[in-house]
Formats: sequence, structure tokens, C-alpha cells
Amino acid sequence: MTMPDPRMIQLVMSLRGGGVTNKAVLGAIERTPRDLFVPQRFGDQAFDDRPLPIDCGQTISQPLIVALMTQALDLGDRDKVLEIGTGSGYQAAILSRLARRVYSVERYRTLSREAEERLTALGLTNVVTRVGDGSVGWPEQAPFDRIILTASAPQRPDAILEQLKDGGIAIAPVDRPGRQVLVRYTRTDGDIHEQELMDVRFVPMVKGEAKAL
Ligand code: SAH
Repeated sequence: MTMPDPRMIQLVMSLRGGGVTNKAVLGAIERTPRDLFVPQRFGDQAFDDRPLPIDCGQTISQPLIVALMTQALDLGDRDKVLEIGTGSGYQAAILSRLARRVYSVERYRTLSREAEERLTALGLTNVVTRVGDGSVGWPEQAPFDRIILTASAPQRPDAILEQLKDGGIAIAPVDRPGRQVLVRYTRTDGDIHEQELMDVRFVPMVKGEAKAL
């Protein structure tokens, strides 16, 4: 058996301290080497609980936020999950360990390709990636049991929430005047109920055609 990385033990402890109680979520974090998902020059900071820059001017989220969002999704191992904003692929990797299948959309081809390579290298074969505009969700694969946005929506993302199954849960950063809040949407009998979880800071969801990069 290989010794656990002490930096990983430290990270998991700080996530516990931040309110992550779900053992499956902590286990998924523990088994996913975050250093593979950040640019090499940030390798020494990969296990710090902070966001880091990735290619295309984007960011990999803070581990605590990844863990809290994943915990709030209340995933089951039969769930079909949609992620908007693949980025580095780190959140997708965590989701893939807890759900049946993950569909992840990214508007930058470069990021999508790199994320796919990392997921393959880790043997995570249940993630399907696509380059495109995730602000319209992924209609061909809808409906989903769970949906997670990792880029902020200007208001309630109705087009995406329409692709949520009844009884499903969606988590999204949403812009409010002067701040951004993480919102948990639950769909019951076609009605959307919303609960604000905490203040957050995500890059904005950008509509329209994916850039060539
Ligand atoms: N989940 C990522 C965090 C990515 S940051 C991770 O674990 O690393 C948010 C990502 O959303 C960025 O990569 C950005 O390019 C992407 N994004 C922004 N608007 C988008 C859109 N309309 N469709 C798809 N991806 C989008």
C-alpha cells in the first residue's frame, strides 16, 4: 500500500473543518490528485485550499467549494449528471466517482481536450465531454438527475433547469446585485424551489459560440 500524501491529509482535514461531512465526498477528493489538474508551475500549491489559474484565463475552483457543491448535490450512484464549465476537469473527476455518468460542457476546446486527457489518465471513463455553449444545457442528453454550474449565471438559469428531472437537484452560482450566491434548486412536480447556500465568486458563464482556443 502506498502512503497517503501528507498534503492530501491536510487538505481533507481542512475540508472537514469547513463543513464537509459527507464521507463519500471526502473519499472522492482523497482519491483525486489535484496536482494533475493545475498548471505545472502551481504544482506546489495544488493541495492548498484555494482556487488557482488554469489555461484560457479560467480558474480551478477552491477544493472546499468543490466539496461543498458536491455535497449539496446529494449524489446517488445511479445519477446522470450535467456539469456546465469543465475547466480543468477536477470537479468532473469528483462527480464521476460518485455518479453513474457525467456530461460536461466547456466552451474552450483547449480546456476540454486537456480535461479529457486527465480523466482518461485517471481511468475515469464515465465522463462525456463536449465543446459548446453550456448556457443552453445539453438538450440531446436531457433530462438529468443532477446539474452543476461552475460558471455564474446572470439570473435563474431556466433553460438549464428545464433539463432537470422531477425530484432533481441543481447547484449554481447566480449573480445578485453586488454579489454572487450559490443557489440550490430542487424540482418538485414541475415547480422550482430555491435555497441560497453561501456567497461565492465564480467566473461568469459566457453565452454564444465557443472560441477557437
Ligand atoms: N469545473 C471547473 C471550474 C471551471 S471555471 C474545474 O473543476 O476546474 C468555469 C469554466 O466554465 C471555465 O472553464 C469557462 O470557460 C467555462 N464556461 C463559461 N461559460 C461557459 C458556457 N457558456 N458553456 C460552457 N462552459 C463555459
